[in-house]
Amino acid sequence: MNSRILLVEDEPGLLLTLSDLLESEGYTVETATNGPTGLAKGKAGDFDLIILDVMLPGKNGFDVCRELRQEGSDVAVLMLTAKTQVIDRVVGLKLGADDYLTKPFDPSELLARVEALLRRVHKENLTPVVRFQFGIISADFDKAEVLKEGHPISLAGKELQLLRYLIDHRGKVLTREEILKDVWEYQADISTRTVDVHVAWLRQKIEENPQYPKHILTVRGSGYRFNP
Ligand code: CA
Repeated sequence: MNSRILLVEDEPGLLLTLSDLLESEGYTVETATNGPTGLAKGKAGDFDLIILDVMLPGKNGFDVCRELRQEGSDVAVLMLTAKTQVIDRVVGLKLGADDYLTKPFDPSELLARVEALLRRVHKENLTPVVRFQFGIISADFDKAEVLKEGHPISLAGKELQLLRYLIDHRGKVLTREEILKDVWEYQADISTRTVDVHVAWLRQKIEENPQYPKHILTVRGSGYRFNP
């Protein structure tokens, strides 16, 4: 999968390092070194992701992001903020950035964020499962209905969302962080513990024997895997 990334960064050294890094991972990278050029390229190009520095000459990253959103662009945006700009992260997310990374950062952290965002982008382009059957459970997500041996069981909104997410990613190991990010998105009072709690609740409802789950499996040291 050859994703296209627009990198908007005015520090020449960092621009070079990051574009080399991303290209070595197989991404197609285009660059801009100031706000107006970044905005113009962002509007014109068909990118999967824009990595956008906040402090840019001409127009700052917040304005670039806001104007892109006003134009109706739904491209994924990863903002790069300076260490001290804690408040800026919140502002950035409100303006429509999808994630942020604080400078200085480890290259591996940047790659992890990029991968996660692109996974989300590509996932959104997939058609999610509407009806799904496994074991003694059958789920109909259009009707928000889950049956256990033919009898309706009651799932809270987040439990239903979590179940659907697990089904959509069946067979894959999902980390708590991924689940948290995708199912809960950004909520300040939520920790990975929440994922464990909801998994436990869901197991109570859908597993024949919740003590020995056959469908929502714990992957030690990693997270969970849904096994139909
Ligand atoms: Ca800068």
